[in-house]
Amino acid sequence: MSDKKKGISTLAVHGGEPREKAAHAITTPIHQTSTYVFRDTAELCDYMDGKLDRMEYGRYGNPTTRAAELKLAALDHAEDALLFPSGMGAITTTIMALTKAGDHIILTSDSYRRTRQFCLQIMAKFGVETSIVDPRDYDALEKAITPKTKLLFSESPTNPYMNVIDLPKVVAIGKKHRIKIIIDSTFATPFNQTPLDYGVDLVLHSATKYLGGHNDLLGGVITGKKDFIDGIRKFQGILGGIPDPQAAYLLIRGLKTFPLRMARQNESALAIARYLNKHPKISMVYYPALEHHHNYEVAKAQMRGFGGVVSFEVKATLEQISKFIDNCKIPYIAPSLGGTESLIEQPSLMSFYELSTEERKAVGISDQLVRYAVGVEDTQDLIDDLEQALKVIPG
Ligand SMILES: *Cc1c(COP(=O)(O)O)cnc(C)c1O
Repeated sequence: MSDKKKGISTLAVHGGEPREKAAHAITTPIHQTSTYVFRDTAELCDYMDGKLDRMEYGRYGNPTTRAAELKLAALDHAEDALLFPSGMGAITTTIMALTKAGDHIILTSDSYRRTRQFCLQIMAKFGVETSIVDPRDYDALEKAITPKTKLLFSESPTNPYMNVIDLPKVVAIGKKHRIKIIIDSTFATPFNQTPLDYGVDLVLHSATKYLGGHNDLLGGVITGKKDFIDGIRKFQGILGGIPDPQAAYLLIRGLKTFPLRMARQNESALAIARYLNKHPKISMVYYPALEHHHNYEVAKAQMRGFGGVVSFEVKATLEQISKFIDNCKIPYIAPSLGGTESLIEQPSLMSFYELSTEERKAVGISDQLVRYAVGVEDTQDLIDDLEQALKVIPG
């Protein structure tokens, strides 16, 4: 049976790891080593001649890291995967590896703020230009393409409004104009969508979120075709931003239960979205499984579940909403998402604190917005907690 036919939980437990491991242990060990030794000069020469598949030096690979990569590749239906010390490490290294001075990138407008800053501020210094396009406007997207365009980079679903990119549509645009399509699939995970199956060139995840899943590690990964990943791996070996085997071990451990957690997070987020949607103090809920969501049809067609993040607008002032947040007893106030603990935040005060209300409005962030990143607690407990916390909102 090919790995592609196995279920995602089987792949999460067994994928990428050899059946027999060091010292007959059931787990993949943490190979805490900076370098790898050669038995003799003949072995060194065989390795240099490409006759031996083995490790050479820590910056170019580590067996623990490699096991995590192969597991992630299996989950994403990819030929290969490359691990990074953070999601941003994956994004910045990949974009730098695939562009040169004079090239042009298209980025969708509600992409992760640091990705936008990286393209607009840092890549600009190296002569790479970026156009920002609304992810809902495919005509504008196609019009933004110039002969210099190399990449289209988008999240799907996006943060915090859960815009879902029509994958067949962007892949067709990419093929027509010979540009590479990269999808940051962090909010969906391989449990809910596998964009490579649609012909996307590279998929990227912040493994810090659902994949690690326990709010205890940072990591990032890109998945895709082997020769593509090989090129970026060489680039990573020069830049030096490589993951630590400890974090790779924690990621492997987290991935074993990832499908179980994700199923619960999908289920709880859907229940919370439906609960909030009926609540008189809530004016809007952004969750792609709700029929009023502007990408409901696209999401239903290409996603198997809709993730653990629910964004919503409360009919109250910024200050009143802070009281509601402070009154929640289960979710912690923190950035991030996807871990076992539920997290809640006001984007206006978390990611956009230094902006004025007007400036936030200009980038599409309302002061009424709350982002709830659902953990794996009991669904009813989370809803009961929201019910009591919302009592502080007048009306
Ligand atoms: C968190 C996040 C990132 C950045 O990942 P880090 O692991 O924090 O570096 C990138 N994209 C999305 C969609 C994210 O949620």
